Amino acid sequence: EQEVEWVKQETVNGFRDYVNPGFLEYRKSVTIGDLASSAVEWSDSGPNGFRDINGKEYIDCLGGFGIYNVGHRHPKVLKAVIDQMGRQALHSQDLLDPLRAILMKILADITPGQLKYSFLTNSGTESVEAGIKLAKANNPNKPTIIAATKAFHGKSMGSLSGTAKGVFRRPFMPVVPGFRHVPFNDLEMLRKTMESCQMVGEDVGAVLLEPIQGEGGVNIPDGDYLTGVRKLCDEFGALLILDEVQTGMGRTGKMFCCEHYGVIPDILCLAKAFGGGIMPIGATIATEKVFSVLFENPFLHTTTFGGNPLACAAAIANINVLIEENLPERAAEMGEYMLAGLRKAAAGYENKLVDVRGKGLLIAMEFVDNEVGFEVAKHMFDNGVLVTGTLINAQVIRVEPPLTITRKEADRVFEVLAYALAKVSGDNKV
Ligand code: PMP
Repeated sequence: EQEVEWVKQETVNGFRDYVNPGFLEYRKSVTIGDLASSAVEWSDSGPNGFRDINGKEYIDCLGGFGIYNVGHRHPKVLKAVIDQMGRQALHSQDLLDPLRAILMKILADITPGQLKYSFLTNSGTESVEAGIKLAKANNPNKPTIIAATKAFHGKSMGSLSGTAKGVFRRPFMPVVPGFRHVPFNDLEMLRKTMESCQMVGEDVGAVLLEPIQGEGGVNIPDGDYLTGVRKLCDEFGALLILDEVQTGMGRTGKMFCCEHYGVIPDILCLAKAFGGGIMPIGATIATEKVFSVLFENPFLHTTTFGGNPLACAAAIANINVLIEENLPERAAEMGEYMLAGLRKAAAGYENKLVDVRGKGLLIAMEFVDNEVGFEVAKHMFDNGVLVTGTLINAQVIRVEPPLTITRKEADRVFEVLAYALAKVSGDNKV
């Protein structure tokens, strides 16, 4: 035990000196990141939980920021990666590597509509970047790309140009020219903007959206918003890029969130949970027509590690598990259960927790302000539930557990939320 204590102290003291101090300060004010990192070392305690070095267990309602849809280190995904490691690891000598081809075929099968060809990436940022480039190559004479306010699409120069948050953009201005932002869930503004762009000869080549905004605070559009966007895109000859990096792979109760709305994009971006929470991998999937700009010169957009054999093995096993275990359906069912349970726990605390919303297991609790959100998250963390704010602040706390979360675990989360709300309300009985 003494040894464990020593390791802990050394690690705490040691690693803090090497972590960007600005990052620690920032995280401290907006999420429980600082508390989480003070737990020093984590290991999985089953599919839906963590254990820190002191043996304390936490229910994982952060889900690795949305990567653990099949649970932590699912044995089938793990086995697929380990087996692949024994054969070949990072690089395939063959551009037609069978694992890549199999994964692409599976993607064509499970994505809606005529989405067929994929470009495989290493991250969400890269998937969006590829989507933007694909759209630009399709519509070279339509320079405008419209994204939504509060959007998050990544932080490389192209994806950052779609990301709306000023604090991330300001130091890097000018970002890629041609990007405009309109309010999410506002069809009228989108139409007006498309018209005014057309009027000045700067036609809209693509509309880039998250079907439900994740980092922006779990903003769920009206039922007819996305169909309206699809119609506008068709009317103006613009491509629709849906960024399902966070909403994909069953998270919202369907394999892809766009299926709730019956909307099929021209380009679909995936990452996060795509690699089963074990390998980093993303994909940009497009229709044949859209993807065909890369037929003539497939080297227009490439990456060394994208779709490497380990990552493909993980993604294939991951999709199998999602389907075999009916995890999208489970997310829908558990999402209802958790929405109801969290709302019930919050009853009577409307002056602190103003809204609980979500679709499937992408859930948000919105507090009156950042301070209250942070205090609640802290109490929840202290009592063994790991949650997180958004990239923006802790006013909105996300609940994004593995889709395998059990009712028993969910019940405990409700209990802990009720306790935390009582605490921040100065209720002495708790
Ligand atoms: N798009 C969306 C919708 C995201 O939520 C994120 C990550 N939060 C990204 C893109 C960027 O993904 P990554 O961090 O893997 O680059």
